[in-house]
Amino acid sequence: MPIYEYRCNRCRGEFEHLGSMNDRDSEVECPLCGGRGAEKLMSRCQTKVEMSLSDFQALSDATAGGGCVGCTSGSCSTCDK
Ligand SMILES: [Zn+2]
Repeated sequence: MPIYEYRCNRCRGEFEHLGSMNDRDSEVECPLCGGRGAEKLMSRCQTKVEMSLSDFQALSDATAGGGCVGCTSGSCSTCDK
């Protein structure tokens, strides 16, 4: 089966999803936030972002808390959180 890349419309996270004939893009569930309605990315290589799931969750947590990406490491020199 082909692997497609999607971008979540809710958390803007990108993830890969094994395609199947029965899948409708609008019903692909985001593994990061559980939201539906991800859009398929046409280009595999240009926007490829290598992040682990934990990185994504840490990033979204920091974003939700008003911090910055640096906050995920515990001490942040950018925003002093
Ligand atoms: Zn999401």
